Amino acid sequence: MLHTGFPRVTAVRNVRFDTGAGELLARDVLVDEDGVITSVDAAVSVAPGAGELDGRGLLALPGLVNTHAHVDKSWIGHPWQSYGGEGGTDGRIRHERARRDELGIPGLDITRRVLAEFVRFGTTAVRTHVDVDLGLGLRGIEIVREAVAEYDGALTAEIVAFPQDGVLRRPGVVDLLRAAAETGVEHVGGLDPASIDRDPVGQLDALFAIAADTGAGIDIHLHDPAELGAFQLDLILDRTASLGLTGKVNIAHGFAIAQVDPVRRRDLLQRMAGLGVTMTTVAPLRLPQLPLHEMDAAGVRFGFGTDGIRDLWSPYGTGDLLGIAWQYARSSSIVRDEDLRRVVELATTAGASFAGIRRHALQPGDRADLVLLDAENAMDALVRTPPREVTVGGGRILYQR
Ligand SMILES: [Zn+2]
Repeated sequence: MLHTGFPRVTAVRNVRFDTGAGELLARDVLVDEDGVITSVDAAVSVAPGAGELDGRGLLALPGLVNTHAHVDKSWIGHPWQSYGGEGGTDGRIRHERARRDELGIPGLDITRRVLAEFVRFGTTAVRTHVDVDLGLGLRGIEIVREAVAEYDGALTAEIVAFPQDGVLRRPGVVDLLRAAAETGVEHVGGLDPASIDRDPVGQLDALFAIAADTGAGIDIHLHDPAELGAFQLDLILDRTASLGLTGKVNIAHGFAIAQVDPVRRRDLLQRMAGLGVTMTTVAPLRLPQLPLHEMDAAGVRFGFGTDGIRDLWSPYGTGDLLGIAWQYARSSSIVRDEDLRRVVELATTAGASFAGIRRHALQPGDRADLVLLDAENAMDALVRTPPREVTVGGGRILYQR
């Protein structure tokens, strides 16, 4: 099922850009047949022609980038699933495994629904974790690839082969992760090497060997708190350095960074920056947030993600990445214009590299990936998170309200 119904646009007329330089002028964005922006100029007052989109003076932001999603296992669009798991990471994993066995493995329709939900909220690029385990093998990855392919390049996605059920504690999973990397997934995942596998050195050595051999990146879920998490960050940084994997490693969650004392944090962040180790956060409500100014001062790049939405881990979650950025800003007590604007940048332009996009700033030469919303400026868009009016990906209209 190719979504050939996504109309191609040759121009997006009369939209406003927030460049931070004061008054927001109306612009026309011209797009070539490859979906690339060719020019951005002051709007001319002509009615949009055939194949042109009338921006109606709405604010244009670069498309939102969801840097941490699980598009393979939501129950969105299906009857309500009561949450019955025990607490803690392993309790949730056991609950998910048990219910998945009863309900059946989520299929293509689930991933389609999740992607459509992301697009409806203005997302044009995604890095998604996809479960790889002994029951599922690599089937989940095939399903996600199929769902993404239906967008025919208009939606950008990178995949992390994710060992949700553990790595070393499930003999055979390392081989599956290696096989996934050999089929071209962009990253191999990991999960709390200390608390899940109870063998941090073993899990990390296995993951890093795959990365070093195949060229895949590493994107590891690290929920372990405080010094237990920081200790594993040390191990990750050691291996990143010794195997020459600078710029190839991401830490998802990394709660420990915000929990250790400031001196330990500064040292870790400096080392991470030097090795190009990035972070992704879902702006957890009941935990301290990644500290914006410390992250930026150190030069550690980070992006926002929705994590799983409406899944067997939690009934909560929507596809609204801007809502996650709002949650981050609000719970970090961010109020100044420059900081609010920076948070929007993290959700858009600065997040693009997490999905393999080199430039993402609505400039000539960039993909025509943008979202239109009725907001005064970037700050207003963040604090109100108004409905998304139009989503354009790769020069095609993916959603119109
Ligand atoms: Zn996750």
